Amino acid sequence: MNHSICKNIQEIEEEIGNTQLVVVSKYRSLEELEKVYSCGHRHFGENRVQELVDKYETLPKDINWHVIGHLQTNKVRYIAPFVHLIHSVDSLKLLKTIDKEAEKSDRVIDFLFQMHIAQEDTKFGLSEYELKGILENEEYSSLNNVRCKGLMGMSTNTQDNNQVTSEFTALKATYDMYATEYNFDILSMGMSCDYLVAIVNGSTMIRVGSKIFQ
Ligand SMILES: *Cc1c(COP(=O)(O)O)cnc(C)c1O
Repeated sequence: MNHSICKNIQEIEEEIGNTQLVVVSKYRSLEELEKVYSCGHRHFGENRVQELVDKYETLPKDINWHVIGHLQTNKVRYIAPFVHLIHSVDSLKLLKTIDKEAEKSDRVIDFLFQMHIAQEDTKFGLSEYELKGILENEEYSSLNNVRCKGLMGMSTNTQDNNQVTSEFTALKATYDMYATEYNFDILSMGMSCDYLVAIVNGSTMIRVGSKIFQ
């Protein structure tokens, strides 16, 4: 089984060209992560802070750790010293906490705003209106230890390609609206089931788990 992990990564990388692949390693064992590492891959995504910290402490330090799941303010301090990119910022309150903890670690932490693009109520994220509200907030512009790199979104879990396409198109349009003014260069969209649709619609970073560890 381990044998095929490198092959799966290689096949995906050939398909996606310059798009950045984040290997979603949540729930996977250290042995599986070591295998990914040994294939030369250095971008890992996790959605639970405790699991992320445990893996960070055990594995080599040149891994770039991505937080892709909902983040609680009281957990930020555990990841602030080392996290590479937080994909899931969905409030100014959370961002202020990240800024404060980043300052304590003498760092500037890169992040994405997570946008709500799916039809399901269960997926976290901001509306376009809420995003605008944060970007134009004076408190936001006064934060010196966080840097917005762009947006992230998750499509509806459906086989309906038109639905997924329209959600990704809408997210790309929001991204384009702000990219120049706010120096965005990352649009994180696409998972195992829909990364090719995401790339066609302008994704620069995909988050893939099950297709690699199947
Ligand atoms: C689990 C997860 C992924 C990866 O999903 P797969 O279907 O396993 O590729 C991507 N993004 C987020 C936010 C996730 O929680």
